[in-house]
Amino acid sequence: MFLKKKIQDCVIIGSGPSGYSAAIYAARADMNPILFTGFQPGGQLTTTTVVDNYLGFSEGIKGVDFMKNCKDQAKRFNTEIINHSVNHVILSNKIRGNHRIFFSTEKCIESKGLIIATGSRPKFLGIHKEKKFLGLGISFCATCDGFFHKEKNVAVIGGGDTALEEAIFLSKFCKKVYLIVRKDHLKASKILQKIFLKKNNIDTLFCSKITEIIGDNFLEGINIFNHKTKTNKIVLISGLFIAIGHIPNTEIFRNELDLDEKGYVIVQKGRTITSKPGVFAAGDVQDPIYRQAITSAGTGCMAALDLEKYLYM
Ligand SMILES: Cc1cc2nc3c(=O)[nH]c(=O)nc-3n(C[C@H](O)[C@H](O)[C@H](O)COP(=O)(O)OP(=O)(O)OC[C@H]3O[C@@H](n4cnc5c(N)ncnc54)[C@H](O)[C@@H]3O)c2cc1C
Repeated sequence: MFLKKKIQDCVIIGSGPSGYSAAIYAARADMNPILFTGFQPGGQLTTTTVVDNYLGFSEGIKGVDFMKNCKDQAKRFNTEIINHSVNHVILSNKIRGNHRIFFSTEKCIESKGLIIATGSRPKFLGIHKEKKFLGLGISFCATCDGFFHKEKNVAVIGGGDTALEEAIFLSKFCKKVYLIVRKDHLKASKILQKIFLKKNNIDTLFCSKITEIIGDNFLEGINIFNHKTKTNKIVLISGLFIAIGHIPNTEIFRNELDLDEKGYVIVQKGRTITSKPGVFAAGDVQDPIYRQAITSAGTGCMAALDLEKYLYM
């Protein structure tokens, strides 16, 4: 069943910084965007306490307040917001062809332009108190939250490139960084390992996993189990950085678009253009590297401008 008789110019899937940024630019360019909020209205930032590194907020801002502002701004320019997840898409191969976006049971919208802003989700360890302490000591981003732990002890969990980058970054201003690695070796690139090994305030704990998060109202420490020596060790830390990977939210595009081996949408270098005409991708869904609110918002703007060019020029 078609929800609208008219074929739309712009549908946006996702309500994080990239989705709302795209909506504001698209609405102001008369593209009358329709935006789907999905399973997490407001996106990942709604799961954090304070956002301190977004330009223009000199005192920082709560994640939920920031995302409410983004939504209000998009609504001020008449973005139509649909509180549903998209469960299926059929993407056209033709220039200015119609893409079909299905949501709810059987409902569908047709649009010449589609902006994918579905973000990604960080992998959790799956242990007790992990979600409770998100923003209260537990973080997925050292660039975002490392600053709060100056001169303190922290831990990073993971053995890949991201984990090492996080540990190296934190070692510059934290007293001590524990790197907790499940295996007996690092899988990060050799070049990163070389830089990493020069840091004398990083203590690497191989063959280890966290069995308990300690603290009542915020993180105070962790219990670590070494599966080789079968011993436990408690370390007191103010911050725990989980760096075991992200999963891009691209399940519904799997057979419709070119994705990389990890599932990220492939876009042309420096652009938001995907493998299908009229389909653009912005934010974390196409970015395994930076994963910041400001870069997401930036690429949301780019996607709307790329779509405008596609439709009218
Ligand atoms: C705990 C935490 C703290 C963070 N702190 C900071 C920080 O301080 N500073 C910073 O710059 N960055 C921070 N980040 C990273 C930042 O949140 C992300 O880079 C940013 O939110 C990515 O924006 P996005 O628009 O690409 O996607 P997301 O914010 O991931 O939003 C994706 C949106 O897509 C929707 N969606 C997904 N699938 C569907 C579907 N099938 N149908 C419809 N909608 C769908 C979701 O509901 C969601 O609304 C943090 C991340 C986390 C997890």
